[in-house]
Amino acid sequence: MQRPSENLIIPVTTDSSGKIYIREQFGYFQRLRRRLGWLLMLLFMALPWLQIDGRQALRIDVERFAIEWFGFVVLPQDFAIVALLFAIAAFALFYATKLYGRIWCGYVCPQTIWSLLFVWVERRIEGPASKSKALDAQPWRGVAGLRKLAIRLAKHSVWGLLSLATALVFVSYFVPARSLYSDFFQGNASAAVQSWVWFFALCTYLNAGLVREKMCLHMCPYARFQSSMFDRATRLVAYDSARGEARGARKKSADKPTGMGDCVDCNLCVQVCPVGIDIRHGLQYECINCGLCIDACDATMRQFGYPTGLIRYHGDHSPKGLARLSRHLGYGVALLVLLGATLLWFSHLTSTALTVSRDRQQLSRLTSDGQLENTFTLRVSNKTLAPRRYQLTLQGLAGARLLPATPSASASSSATNSTTLELKPQEDREFVITVALADCPGQAFIPFNWQLRDTTRQETVTVKASFYGGGC
Ligand code: SF4
Ligand code: SF4
Repeated sequence: MQRPSENLIIPVTTDSSGKIYIREQFGYFQRLRRRLGWLLMLLFMALPWLQIDGRQALRIDVERFAIEWFGFVVLPQDFAIVALLFAIAAFALFYATKLYGRIWCGYVCPQTIWSLLFVWVERRIEGPASKSKALDAQPWRGVAGLRKLAIRLAKHSVWGLLSLATALVFVSYFVPARSLYSDFFQGNASAAVQSWVWFFALCTYLNAGLVREKMCLHMCPYARFQSSMFDRATRLVAYDSARGEARGARKKSADKPTGMGDCVDCNLCVQVCPVGIDIRHGLQYECINCGLCIDACDATMRQFGYPTGLIRYHGDHSPKGLARLSRHLGYGVALLVLLGATLLWFSHLTSTALTVSRDRQQLSRLTSDGQLENTFTLRVSNKTLAPRRYQLTLQGLAGARLLPATPSASASSSATNSTTLELKPQEDREFVITVALADCPGQAFIPFNWQLRDTTRQETVTVKASFYGGGC
């Protein structure tokens, strides 16, 4: 099977400016799309209800610029992990595109999934695509007009409810899900929350109900550059023109006419296409590799007793050996490196963050009783969803004592080089702590460690610092 031009990746485009009436199609790829769509939608709806330690497991706290992530809080200083996860998602997408073309668009893109859902509703209310088209052509007058009005009202009402439900689920990733629904429907939600819900509902209604494939065709930037990731081995939906041509209608019961190919020109591959193209014209940038035309054509082939696969996923070239391996280098290796970096990051993930800075105004202070003091500011973040008690200890600074810190840290009576700090869930707090040495150390800078131990988790964070011993 040849693609229209071996050198041209985007050979043909189709005028798809008119309204597309998508014919419903059943088959292997449609089933796969629907199941994936349901699975992802269920995941989208269920995640905000997951609870850990009595709190929402996944939530973005816009006010604190933090993400609650399954019992941890990702603070701005941890945003490297967010960047890493985005990079993994991007490279996984590029890698999948290189191997299988626009399968993201065809199978799992939210725009596709919600459009599929809205079209499903349309078919249930208006009937097959041909009836939708006829309804559009009907005037708004008389009994027919009233019937059209009732059908359209029903369709747009269901679309509106689905849009509102989608918006509420989306906003529940930002606002606690448990209170959002009751607050929203009782009118107790803040004006900001209400506005965001209605805004996202409107976006869903417009995108999935009215704009649909126009978003993919004219607005999505990813559609524009992903063909640059294709190579000759990328498996794309293609029509086998050598086998299909010359196309032409014929009777099912009759033998294939001499000189004719397998394409019976039923046009079903065009009628089911969600972006309204004719794949027989060759690869087109609009094609989202969804496989619906394959299902349609296979069904026709079976009816005529011809082998299936006239339209199929196909790569022009099947590299072997090293060439095959080299296809997986690049995106594949980058993905592995990023996954390794993420695992490494998670293996070092602690539920506490500690940063230390010294008082810049006064490096050291000599008191009237001959004691040398350095003051430090310790910023401690409890990234968990439970209150925490920490033991802060000085290590490697012989004879040093901690003077009572502010706020609410108390020097331990038994060990003067340690103190206890208490933080509320997700609290991020600064403590000003003074370190005192009774004698002049006779050294400008003495290195030591601050060690913060979470007494519940037995998790330890250590930060290096130095005591300034000059000035005495
Ligand atoms: S041409 Fe086929 S694979 Fe491409 S978008 Fe249309 S139906 Fe989907
Ligand atoms: S569905 Fe198959 S047989 Fe029918 S027009 Fe398309 S390519 Fe030809």
